[in-house]
Amino acid sequence: MRPDAAGDRGVTLRCAFCLKLNRLDMDRAEDRPLCGECSRPFLLDRPVKLSGDDLERVVRDAGVPVLVDFYADWCGPCKVMAPVLDELASYRVGELLVAKLDTDANPQISASFGIRGIPTLILFRDGAEAERRTGALPRDALDQMLLAG
Ligand SMILES: [Zn+2]
Repeated sequence: MRPDAAGDRGVTLRCAFCLKLNRLDMDRAEDRPLCGECSRPFLLDRPVKLSGDDLERVVRDAGVPVLVDFYADWCGPCKVMAPVLDELASYRVGELLVAKLDTDANPQISASFGIRGIPTLILFRDGAEAERRTGALPRDALDQMLLAG
């Protein structure tokens, strides 16, 4: 498949079940697109867990903004942030990809992005970092971050 086969608003994600890369059209994100290999659905109305290997590629070729939550399971403020991000992903499905990266499982990639505290939220547009915030944010501050970026 050509990388642009899903149009300008595509995102390439790895199927959580069979690990096949799929180019997904974000204009149809609400329809829960199915994996071309195993036919299981991609749930784009909630944060998508990325591996360190996939993060840079996903951000680089995404046709929509990508908000990445750098978090850890033991982090209290990250737990506070989780339902806010769930709500955002659901509300803005198709406009924005909300993703998360476990910093404990991916220390090298976290270091390469200069993550010093968690949660850190980075908004990427056109493959480049546009905005960054560290610490838990209420929903209105998150909305402002998205507008600013
Ligand atoms: Zn699959």
